[in-house]
Parts: sequence; C-alpha cells; structure tokens
Amino acid sequence: MSIKNLDKVLKRVQKATRYSGGELNSVIKNPEDVKIRYAFGFPDTYEVGMSHLGMKILYHILNLRPDTYCERTFAPWIDMEEEMRKEGIPLFTNETHTPVKEFDFLGITLQYEMCYSNVLNMLSLAGIPLLSSERGEDDPFVNGGGPCAYNSEPIADFFDFFTMGEGEEVIGELMDAYIEWKESGGKRIDYLKRIAKIEGIYVPSLYDVTYNDDGTIKSMTPNCPEAKPKIKKRIIEDLDKVIYPDKLIVPFCDIVHDRANIEVFRGCIRGCRFCQAGMIYRPVREKSPDTLLNDACNLINSTGYEEMGLSSLSTSDYTELETLTDKLLELTEKEKVSLSLPSLRVDNFSLDLMQRVQKVRKSGLTFAPEAGSQRMRDVINKNVSEEDLINSATLAFEGGWNSVKLYFMIGLPYEEMEDIAGIALLAEKVVECYYNSEKTNKRRGVNVTLSVASFVPKPFTPFQWAPQDTMETLAEKQLFLKGEVRNRHIKYNYHQNDISVLEGVFARGDRKLGKVLLRAHSLGCKLDGWNECFNLELWKQAFSDCGIDMAFYTRERSYDEILPWDIVDIGVSTQFMKNENEKAKKAAVTPNCREKCSGCGATALCKTKKGCVCFE
Ligand code: SF4
Repeated sequence: MSIKNLDKVLKRVQKATRYSGGELNSVIKNPEDVKIRYAFGFPDTYEVGMSHLGMKILYHILNLRPDTYCERTFAPWIDMEEEMRKEGIPLFTNETHTPVKEFDFLGITLQYEMCYSNVLNMLSLAGIPLLSSERGEDDPFVNGGGPCAYNSEPIADFFDFFTMGEGEEVIGELMDAYIEWKESGGKRIDYLKRIAKIEGIYVPSLYDVTYNDDGTIKSMTPNCPEAKPKIKKRIIEDLDKVIYPDKLIVPFCDIVHDRANIEVFRGCIRGCRFCQAGMIYRPVREKSPDTLLNDACNLINSTGYEEMGLSSLSTSDYTELETLTDKLLELTEKEKVSLSLPSLRVDNFSLDLMQRVQKVRKSGLTFAPEAGSQRMRDVINKNVSEEDLINSATLAFEGGWNSVKLYFMIGLPYEEMEDIAGIALLAEKVVECYYNSEKTNKRRGVNVTLSVASFVPKPFTPFQWAPQDTMETLAEKQLFLKGEVRNRHIKYNYHQNDISVLEGVFARGDRKLGKVLLRAHSLGCKLDGWNECFNLELWKQAFSDCGIDMAFYTRERSYDEILPWDIVDIGVSTQFMKNENEKAKKAAVTPNCREKCSGCGATALCKTKKGCVCFE
C-alpha cells in the first residue's frame, strides 16, 4: 500500500488539517533512531481526540523515551474515508504519514462504547486483521485502554491486550518488555504471555469463557500460568511526581476543548451511584497548587493558548481551590490568558470565585441536579437539595447571569413518573427565583435550558445490576416531561434514547457481542456517536443476523450472576457496591469521602498515604 496520493486527497477533503500533521509541538523524530514505533489511535474525529487529556499525557511520556516514537492517528471523517478507500490509502499517522500497519503498536483509547464500530473501521482501513487471533507475527500489537477497557469483553476479540487504569507507569513497562522480547527473538504469543504478568494488563486470548444455558457467564478462567485470575487496575499514587506534559500540541483547526488544561486531581469524593468515573478513579489524589502553577506556566509558555482550563471530575471539591485560583489568576492576568472554571457544584457554588474568574464574560452557567425530586436525588446519592440549587441560581442571577443550563437524567433505577415531573417543577422554581429577586434585570428575562439524558447502567457502579429502560419507555418518559414543561423561559433538550440503549448493551456486554460488532461493521456502521451517521436500523439488523437479543443485556442482573467485568479489581469492593444499591432502594444517602469514610476499599490499591484525602 502507498500514501503517494495523499497530498492530492488532502486538497479534496474538508478540514485537511485533521490529517496533515505539522502542528506546533507535534513531535518529529527520525524513525530510524528508535526501537519502537507506537501509533496512538483515537477512535473518533481529530477534533474530539485532540481534546482528550489522556492521549496528550501518554504521547508526551512515550516521546520522552529516546527509544520510542509515538505518533497520532484518528478516525477519518466520511469524506476522507471515501477518498482513502478509493485511492488505496491505508490508515496513517499524522506526524510522518506512515501506514499504521508498519508500527509496533496501535494503542486505542476507549472513552465511550459508541466508538467500537470506529475501532473496527480503523483496523480495516489500516489493513490490520480485525480479529487478534488472525494477526501475524508482523502485525502491530493492538492495545486498548480508557474507561471502556474496564469491561472490554464485547471488544475482546479485536484487541491483543488491554491496560486497566492509569497508564503513565505501565506504558513504560510495556515498552521495556517489548524491547527485551524483541531482543530475545520470541514469537508474538511470548510477548503477550510476558506482559500478562504485569499488573494491570489483561490479555483476553489467555482466558476461556464458558456460558450457562441461559446465556449468562459460567466461568472466565486463565488458560495459561502467566494469566492472572484477577487484573488489578493501575493507579498513580503521587500525582505531584507523575510526568505531566510541558508542551501540548496546538491544532490548526477548532477542536472541542481548545485551551491549555491542567489536571487538578483524580478521583471524586462524591459517591453518585450512577457514575462510573466516580468509582473507577477512586481514591481522590490531588496535585499541590505549586505543581499546578508550574504545569500552567509551562503550558502558557509553550503553546500561546489564550485560555487555561482546570480539569477534574469535580473541580470545586479541590481542597485548595481558593489558593490555586489566586495563584493562577496572578499568572494568567500577567500573561493575558483567560482562566475558565468548569461548572461548579450546586451546593458549593461561589459567586465570588465565578466573578473573579469570569470577570466580564457572563457565559451560561451549568448545574447538574441530575434528578427532579429530592427522593430521586437521594436514590442516586446526589447530595444536593432544592434549596442548594435555588440559592446558587439566585446568587448567579443577582451576579449578572441570566442563563442557566440544568442537567438531568431519566430512566434512573427506582424512578416514578412524579420524579420526572419534578424536573419541570424544579426548572420553574429556578425561573421564579429570577423574577422574585429584586436585584435581577427583569427586562432581560431569564433562560433555563433542561438537558435531559437517558440513564445507562455502567459496570463498576452500584447500579451495575439495574435494568435499563427500553427505547419505548424512555420515549414515553421524554414525551411526558415535554408535556410538563409549560414555561416559555424553559427550553427542553433531550438525547437520542436509541443510542443510550445501544450504549447500555455494550457497556454491560460480554464476548458474544464481538460477532455483532463484526456484522455491524460489515453493514457499514461507523461514527455512531454522531447523530448524522448513527443508523439504528443497521444495528438492529446486526443483532438479528447474529441471533442476539439486546434485551438480554439491558435486563436486571442478580447479585449471584458472574458479570463480564468481574475479572477486574478496581479496588472498590463488590460488597460496597451492593450496600450502595440496597441503600438506593431505600433512598438512603451515603456521606461524601470528606465527611466520613464509607470503607469502599479503594485505598487498598494505594500503598502510600500521600495525596489521598481518604486518610486525612
Ligand atoms: S476508602 Fe473511604 S474515603 Fe477513600 S474513597 Fe473509599 S469511601 Fe471514600
């Protein structure tokens, strides 16, 4: 295969800078000088992939190694794919335009289930056999990571191995093992057996899965001595010591988050029962303000970005937020860079902080009560009250904002229709608080936008056993809520429920879904995260052609059932998840990790106490 017509093709496609490379801070090395070539693949468009922090971190760490060259590759948009297939151009990297098939590794980050069809499409475009069992000695090792890797069973057939947890340390161990294996002259399987012994590495082909007559899993057992019975996630204990990029690639085109981001902490002190990120990244580990200031200085100097953002699951829970913003504002004002804070929590919204950060710009504020009634917020353990929301909204309106966006979910476990009606009622109360205040400008008026997503039960959450609503039930609930919203100041946006159901099927799926993915790929499914590309009918056909019922995967699970992700140990115990699910049934809340430790078990994976608020 050749890339000889690439220049010609790039002139014909939209946004050629998605593929051309050459951006500021992209790394150029002589491939002849390295022992390993690693293609980092993002299974979505350039704009989405370039906003992803994990990719930036691993790209930087791999390229710090003199023996390794990491390059990037993304899912091409439809026009580019057509041109590539027409001209016989294989999937290539942005940096050197080298075919991905010539690399030693293709590492793919799996951020959401709806990217799975893109993974297969990228493999096919690369000319790499889709099934790991069909790959030859010269094919790259295909490695998966990211949140979806925690239940990698639906895509197990397509990957040589997965990395569970945070990648900064384990990626180096994988590269060292590769060099040793290469020098030993071993076969492909020898490398896989070698890395199966590394903590956090899961090689699916080294495990046999058997099923009961009803389709549930009977056993998942290692088929060789190197494979561990349980895979422990990797975790970085001290975030002040871990490498953070001092340079970020600056794209030529607009991307989703186009700013310099510093990562404030990992984990979350909250225990929202629907939230996978809140469980898999436990326990909380913070960076110190000095480290963050240093990270910020480096990025401002190396990128020329005019906006700096803070990244974490819940930035307002950072223990030294005031100190950090003071220090950052001093820096950003001097450098003429604006500082943006992600939305703050409803219960500790600080007008003072928002006003200092967003001095002039009164862009829309977002709050996430997630559920409309207090009972439902207690079920999901979202510890915010109506009073918190009204107080925060009033503060914001009196501070000059006149637009808020409220995030909710429907289809939550143990939900009643009155909980859904509560969403519209709550929004009306927010509108009222604008007009009831003496300090707001009534002539400007207020806009409240409801953004309502459908709940998807995820592995490693207390709701991992819960049934998921059908597409029909979700549609009924959406329609019901639409009817309840009668105030002209409230705008109601909802998400496509068919995508949510499919996402739920793959989130809690098993290895049997591999054949559905293969069929869906052959039918042309791709870019499913994009409304204009998603085609439910093709997916339905793929399931039906394979004789697989989606309802099997959206059903309620019993505590006794072996779940496809039971092979992974995230630190948080199954008993804790069960207790939380039982508490949800009674709408009983669990305090956050700063108020009281609930003994979830996460700290068992963290050997040192430094940086972990669980011990304070
Ligand atoms: S060990 Fe305790 S404090 Fe730490 S994450 Fe778990 S529940 Fe929270």
